[in-house]
Amino acid sequence: MPNIKGSILITIAGLGSSGAYLLRRLSQDGFGVTGYDPKPDSYYIPCGYALKFQELAKILANVGMEADRYVLSMGKEITIGGESTGDFRFNLTGLCTVDKNLLEKDLVSGLRRERRKAPSSSDMLIDATGVSRYYLGPARDDFAMYAREVVTVRSTHQDFYMSYFPSGKGYYWEFPIGDRFHVGVGTSDPEYFRMLPAERERVVGRKIRLKPLLDQAARGNVIGIGEAIGTVSPITGEGIIPSMKSAEILYQCLRNHGEIERVVENYLCRIREEFSRYPRLFELLQRFRSGRKGIGNIRFAREAIHDLRGFGIDFRLWKVASSLI
Ligand SMILES: Cc1cc2nc3c(=O)[nH]c(=O)nc-3n(C[C@H](O)[C@H](O)[C@H](O)COP(=O)(O)OP(=O)(O)OC[C@H]3O[C@@H](n4cnc5c(N)ncnc54)[C@H](O)[C@@H]3O)c2cc1C
Repeated sequence: MPNIKGSILITIAGLGSSGAYLLRRLSQDGFGVTGYDPKPDSYYIPCGYALKFQELAKILANVGMEADRYVLSMGKEITIGGESTGDFRFNLTGLCTVDKNLLEKDLVSGLRRERRKAPSSSDMLIDATGVSRYYLGPARDDFAMYAREVVTVRSTHQDFYMSYFPSGKGYYWEFPIGDRFHVGVGTSDPEYFRMLPAERERVVGRKIRLKPLLDQAARGNVIGIGEAIGTVSPITGEGIIPSMKSAEILYQCLRNHGEIERVVENYLCRIREEFSRYPRLFELLQRFRSGRKGIGNIRFAREAIHDLRGFGIDFRLWKVASSLI
């Protein structure tokens, strides 16, 4: 099947999890591609580092890498709580934390990249700049929450913990990372930052996009992947694996089509299919935010269960049904 490998130069702007993965995938297959990112190697990326191990293993196998090297803590159980609901415990089926900085460093190692912003002139520019959407530009009806996270030696729980704030105002997490913890808050109300422990070695923050922007994922010769197009779960904030998956989908489209227009068309279609649950989960989040609790929310259960299990949580609806409605 014809593809555009030999005929165009591809620029990837942003070497976070999605851009770094795509740079390796395309380079290994002989595409003409260069990655750009101005961030210094020592930059500490604000992220909980949690993902499902098996998903990482599957995606890294595509580029001949092994996931074991990156695991910091493998979880056994997660407690999910809420101010009015109490705590629920679930077994974990692969939820772990990984050294994301090392992963991204390894992904780009030895490849063609420059430590600066990407030039805008290119046959095809991949916008992997995360929440900024630097090249795609601002989105209609965007929605992001403030997120702040600390690295600390002490936390209230030893295994994974998450709790939800009332009225969909965000969430709090404690994730073990080896002999430390990531404790963070993602919220629309910065008052909640007071929950963060005072004893901390580091504090970092940025916004996190929770709105899927699957219908605003390309503009001209600019194609977005990852958080730039909202591949982040609106109910858990999980974005690492979904962003790498969007990069893999774009890679396959580039491999399988001979014209940029067909690449874009096919990519947008497959992205909408892969992340079809996100618009529904965003609707659920908005319902909580506007105080709409009730039996109507049960219709979102299928997507919510799929999402939580995909994150490595053996979620059981019967345990929490009363708090959803
Ligand atoms: C506090 C916090 C906690 C989180 N916790 C988790 C978690 O536990 N698990 C999980 O799965 N997800 C989590 N997420 C979400 C996850 O980190 C992101 O969704 C995911 O990493 C997005 O990857 P990305 O490659 O799309 O973007 P990013 O990782 O944000 O990478 C974007 C890159 O673009 C670069 N860049 C910006 N502008 C330019 C430019 N003009 N030119 C070139 N480069 C540019 C930046 O330097 C950056 O390296 C969390 C997010 C936050 C904020």
